[in-house]
Parts: sequence; structure tokens; C-alpha cells
Amino acid sequence: MNKRLLEIKNAVNKRERISRDDAAWLWQHASNDDLIDLASTVRARFHNANTATYLLMRIINYTNICVAKCDYCSFYRLPRAKDGYVRSKEYIFQKIDELIAEGGEFFGFNGGFNPELKIEYYADLFGSIRERYGDSIEFYAMTIVELIYAARLSKMSVSEALSILKNAGVRWITGGGAEVLSDSFRKRHSPLKYTVAEYMQAQKEILAAGMKTTATMVIGFDETLDERLDHLETVRKFQDETEGGLFSFLAWTYKPYNNELGGNEISAEEYLRHLALCRIFFDNIAFIRTSVLTQNANALRGLKYGANDFDIPWEDEVTQKAGATIEKDVEKILSYAHEEGFKTIRRPIALNSIRSTQTLKV
Ligand code: SF4
Repeated sequence: MNKRLLEIKNAVNKRERISRDDAAWLWQHASNDDLIDLASTVRARFHNANTATYLLMRIINYTNICVAKCDYCSFYRLPRAKDGYVRSKEYIFQKIDELIAEGGEFFGFNGGFNPELKIEYYADLFGSIRERYGDSIEFYAMTIVELIYAARLSKMSVSEALSILKNAGVRWITGGGAEVLSDSFRKRHSPLKYTVAEYMQAQKEILAAGMKTTATMVIGFDETLDERLDHLETVRKFQDETEGGLFSFLAWTYKPYNNELGGNEISAEEYLRHLALCRIFFDNIAFIRTSVLTQNANALRGLKYGANDFDIPWEDEVTQKAGATIEKDVEKILSYAHEEGFKTIRRPIALNSIRSTQTLKV
């Protein structure tokens, strides 16, 4: 066996952390089997082998109006566009009711930087949802970048905005809008979407407010290996500093259709290798999630590459507009996991509150 690989394997077996250089080496030189082997070792610290958890969820896009103009986005419409929208509460309630009827109970809200929507709008919307559904459902209220935008638009600090949202019944602000947490990447593609420092500061404030959050990443644009590693290091450091504040990490893939940036999709194999690298690198995040939304059946192969959890998404206009296809046959998706040798367990809503560094053997 290659000397460097042997050193890394020995370190991982001893529960030692791999370095950024080790990660770069693994990405460039390790075989798929070596990545699976290492990722399985780290996964086994947190979860039973051959068991995976999942949620049935729907992303509800409450507005498509956005002034951030990210060049990779296929979803946004500028203010006054004919097909721009802000959904009514009745429309949103109907979307929630539809998924509840299918047995789902988890929702993500995602929109854009809409100059008409201040914090009061969000507090009213999420307060109404909490009032109507109580604890029978849970939801990711908005992404971190939407939070920062709405706070600034409302001329208040992020922590003031969080306090208003918390009083309205919000418990989660998801780590969406991260894409690649590297300022060089953000300057190229989404210069209005805040710097890494601004993003991470807001995420710190979410935890300080007593709310929950997650980490996400999107790969497959034109990001370099260095930029990907910037992202991984930023997330791991944040998780150390906040003693396990991030519940989970989810990576998905860029869809290059109907937008300014264009390009091609990365291969299924590249996604799986990335997933494994993340599992190996993140020795401090228990929940590593694989993306059914952008990878369909391939996502379930990701369970072998270190992931332990996944969403079965019912809808997400943002990725669907960019080329994602949604499979609504839950049994079919679960069967892909079973074919890979995994038993699947529906993740109870209460589990969403468990801190990520706790060992959770399910
Ligand atoms: S990715 Fe989000 S922030 Fe960027 S343009 Fe699209 S909706 Fe706006």
C-alpha cells in the first residue's frame, strides 16, 4: 500500500483528524474503495453500519423575486418581472397540507432577496404556520443569506431579526446559500451574497439565539479543489468553535440548465467521492446527508460513501428549474437504499433537535 495512504489510514483508525493536505491527497490519489473504507470507519463512530435515516420533506418557495443575481441561479426573477411572485399564506398552507396527507412533516422555506419582504413578513408567515400546525410539523425557516438580507433591509442587526423570528416560533435557520464558502468563488459568481465571514458570523448568531442550524455545500460549478477545501476547513473549524452547533452537513450538485453560468454536470462518481471525503474530513459532524434531490438513485449509493441520512424531497422549484427531477415514489427511493444493503428508518421529528456531536446509533 502507498506510504501516504497507509499513514492516513492509521491516523483515521486511531481517530486522528486528517489535515487539509491529507484531504487534497486523498482526492487526487485514493481509489474509490479506499475512500469507502475510510468513510465507513468514520461513519461507524456515529452510526450503526448498514442503517440510514430519512425524512419526507418539501421545499416551499415563498417568493422567486431576488436582487442577488447569482450567475448560477435558474430560479430568480427581478422585481417587477411578469412571472415574479410572493405566495399567499393560503397557498403555503395548502402545500403543507398536501405533504402532511402524504405522511410528511418537514418543510424548508426558500425564496430570495426580495426588497419588499422585511422581517415582519417572515415573522407573520412563520408565526401563522406555528400557530396553525403547532409541533406537528417542523421547518427550516429561511437560509442564512435570506436572513442577513432581510435583517439589513429591515435596518436591524441579525440578532435582533433572530429574536423576532424566534418569538414567532422559528427554531431552525438552515445553512443554505453557502454554495462554496470561499471568497474567491463568491466574488466570481455571487458577489452580492455576502462574504464567508458575514455568513459565518450570522450562523454564530443563530446558535447564540438558541436556534438550530445546519451546514450545506454545492459542488460542480467551476470551483477549484482549493476552494472546496476552504469550505471544508471553514465548516470543521466552526463546528469545533461552537462545540457541535451544526446538526448536519449536506452536499448537493449544481444543475447547469436555464441560467447564465451554464456548464456541465459533474459525474455521479465525483459526487460520491466528494461525499466520502467530507465524511472523512468532518470527524466532528455526525449527520452527513446525501442529496436525493440532485442525485436521484445515485444519492443512495452515497450511503456506502459515508452518508447516513437523506431527504426524500417532494418539491423544490429552485433545483427543478435548473434541471433536477423529482421522484415521488417513496418506496422506490427507499428500495435503492435497500439494494445498497441499508435498512432505512424514518427520522422522527424529535431527532432533529439532537446535537450533531452526540453519538446517535440508529
Ligand atoms: S441563488 Fe438565491 S440569492 Fe442567488 S439569485 Fe438565486 S434566489 Fe437569489
